[in-house]
Amino acid sequence: MTSPTRVIEQLLLPAECLLCHALLVERDADRIVCPVCRHRWRPVRPPWCERCGQPEPHFGPCRLCAEWPAALTYVRSAVWLSEGAREAVHALKYGGLPRIANDLAAAIAGVTLPTQEKSVLVPIPLAPKRLRERGYNQSDALARALSRLWRLPVVDVLVRSRETATQTALTPETRLANVAGAFTPGRRPGVSRDSNYILVDDVFTTGENVAEAARALEQAGARTICGITFGRAVIPDFT
Ligand SMILES: [Zn+2]
Ligand SMILES: [Zn+2]
Repeated sequence: MTSPTRVIEQLLLPAECLLCHALLVERDADRIVCPVCRHRWRPVRPPWCERCGQPEPHFGPCRLCAEWPAALTYVRSAVWLSEGAREAVHALKYGGLPRIANDLAAAIAGVTLPTQEKSVLVPIPLAPKRLRERGYNQSDALARALSRLWRLPVVDVLVRSRETATQTALTPETRLANVAGAFTPGRRPGVSRDSNYILVDDVFTTGENVAEAARALEQAGARTICGITFGRAVIPDFT
């Protein structure tokens, strides 16, 4: 059944691509971004660090994931956060367009996971204050859209235990301190040793959020954790 909000949304929004404003053909009327713009998103491809999916450093081992909790073995992102992809994430986070999660999830669904067996999707929780302001958690919207494509359940096993400053303005060192201890496992459902937890987030910048969320899951008993994000930010080389 089409929800009333959905009907209103369709009446208000012209059926055109959010990014290039081309009219959407009937078959894509459910989309927010047209196929041409989606094909412009640049997939993240190997060679990369097998663990964190970051392009290999020129010298020595990868430093980005060296301090990650042991249970976090595999993180990948669908596309580089270049202009169009950045705009799409912005629409998801600030444009009040949770429906765009379907377009972003379709791109994530192209990412290969080591296994889908016994896997569950875990959205990275949003701080309560931001959740109230936004009305939804963008990672949750992504996880739910992905769950329909991958037929995996979404479980909210993490809660945000404290507010954190916006990450973008911080240096790598302060980012890590900023998220330390930011997540705790919720009481229900509990963390299972047998599940493969797949953390879902919109953007991977330097990985602190996913690493910190994985740390909380690991401390609660999780043994295998992966992470997937839609976008990967090109970060300045801080080696
Ligand atoms: Zn377009
Ligand atoms: Zn790495």
